[in-house]
Amino acid sequence: MATATLRHPIIRHTAAPRNFAGLVRAIEKAQASGLKRISMRFADFIIKPSKYEGKMYVFSHEKELNQWGTMSNKYLGWITSNATSLGEVSLIQAVESAAADPYAAAKVYGQETGQCSCCGRELTNKLSIELGIGPICREKFGL
Ligand SMILES: [Zn+2]
Repeated sequence: MATATLRHPIIRHTAAPRNFAGLVRAIEKAQASGLKRISMRFADFIIKPSKYEGKMYVFSHEKELNQWGTMSNKYLGWITSNATSLGEVSLIQAVESAAADPYAAAKVYGQETGQCSCCGRELTNKLSIELGIGPICREKFGL
């Protein structure tokens, strides 16, 4: 029994490697296309570029009063391609899952809310509704 335990050690207190590359890539693609005010909305969170290269900020859909006295989305933490400051496991998993297939996650959001994941506009025409995202946003974000 002892050798079996050694062959399958449980590693604790080690940050697991993360993979958020798909989301970082989509945001960077949108930045490279010259788009301003970039964000991607998903069921449980919103991603926006930070001023730091390769680092994206994660916000809640929930709004709160900010330091300037206006309402803004609650900041949750940041992600890079392979690291995060997020602490809540279920949220990390939701972000990783969206990163694994950003288009699929954007489409789910679009079909559930009727809004484009990227620009937040209502999906009105047949193609947008079918795609679950605006076709121009889809191209700009490389989805
Ligand atoms: Zn859009």
